[in-house]
Amino acid sequence: MQIYKVGGAVRDRLLGKPVTDIDWVVVGATTEEMLARGFRPVGADFPVFLHPKSGEEYALARTERKSGRGYGGFTFHASPEVTLEEDLIRRDLTINAMAEDDQQNLTDPYHGQRDLEERILRHVSPAFAEDPLRVLRVARFAARYAELGFKVAPETLGLMRQLSESGELEALTAERSWKEISRALMEDQPQVFIQVLRDCGALKVLMPEVDTLFGVPQPEAHHPEIDSGIHTLSVLEQSALHKQPLTVRWACLLHDLGKGLTPEEEWPRHIAHEHKGLKLIKAVNERFKAPKDCQELALLVGQYHTHGHRALELKASTLLELLQSFDVYRRPQRFEEFIVACEMDARGRKGLEQRSYPQADYLRGAANVARGVAVQPLLEKGFKGPELGEALKRERLKALKAYKESAAS
Ligand code: ATP
Ligand code: MG
Repeated sequence: MQIYKVGGAVRDRLLGKPVTDIDWVVVGATTEEMLARGFRPVGADFPVFLHPKSGEEYALARTERKSGRGYGGFTFHASPEVTLEEDLIRRDLTINAMAEDDQQNLTDPYHGQRDLEERILRHVSPAFAEDPLRVLRVARFAARYAELGFKVAPETLGLMRQLSESGELEALTAERSWKEISRALMEDQPQVFIQVLRDCGALKVLMPEVDTLFGVPQPEAHHPEIDSGIHTLSVLEQSALHKQPLTVRWACLLHDLGKGLTPEEEWPRHIAHEHKGLKLIKAVNERFKAPKDCQELALLVGQYHTHGHRALELKASTLLELLQSFDVYRRPQRFEEFIVACEMDARGRKGLEQRSYPQADYLRGAANVARGVAVQPLLEKGFKGPELGEALKRERLKALKAYKESAAS
């Protein structure tokens, strides 16, 4: 048997990028031979094994044929006769379809190295159109390598458009989609992921709520970029520039969905868009089965981001309600993520990227003040049950009023 490094590890070494996980392909072997060498089989359907020591993935060279809809709709054929070239041709992009032996000799039948040099994300063969997940994968690679100047080849974008229009994208499971979406959002330029999905018509299918924001105007005084879709991309971009976690990035992407529901005659204003957007945020959350912390933060940011911007003008009682809604006493981290998401929203506007955002420290201070109200003295005064809760609230309100006054002076 011959063993080759394939896929990302070869690509990233040639790009001079750090290689994290290595995928291997094995030519000329049978399942029995692999098992005899101590490899552990991964799944029932795939001829994939884990190395007994390194735990890295070793796949038998295989060919595949589309036999139905979705990811289950593939028939694999692995046998010792399948050649390296036959295995590589079923891969998504030419830059992912190179293999390397232990002497670093490159096998590159589909010119991945040329495309690496020319900074092109190009499909290997027309079979690309057999797996809709590739639309998301290519958009993700476009986000990852945007910084290096990579672009999607026009023919590949054409196939992605064909997949988007064929209804195949709907066959993707929430789990497979979310895995790609979440990884893409954590890239350095996640806005490129959304932009590429939009360019090939996939955004309209996957997240019509985001797609529809493009072309919806906002008041120029607050939003020099005007377009709500462009604004959303900029907010997402800011969240990556500021190295924010997935929760914040997800919330940034979804914070303004309500603007897509504003009747045209109300443009460019968006009255109550925060509240109107909640059902859309919920729908997107559920469509991809986003993790609970992502879901929660997106809804809270959707509902309260304008509160964040108006923090300094909020009445003490409104400020208290805001803090209570976030349960800042038990969930301080979540409120902090809300604050940064608001800041990203404020900076994700044309020409305002460097503006200061005093609201952030003001809100942090308010949370500290509310948290600083001690329970013990109230217990000593004999408060308990619901009355204790009320008394605590009164004390917090008093403290916030004092905080507000001191901040104003
Ligand atoms: P990453 O750095 O994100 O791990 P990768 O290219 O190694 O990038 P993997 O998901 O680890 O991506 O897949 C390994 C290889 O398997 C890819 O390089 C590609 O050749 C192939 N591959 C993975 N998923 C698909 C797919 N859906 N369609 C076609 N080929 C795929
Ligand atoms: Mg990999």
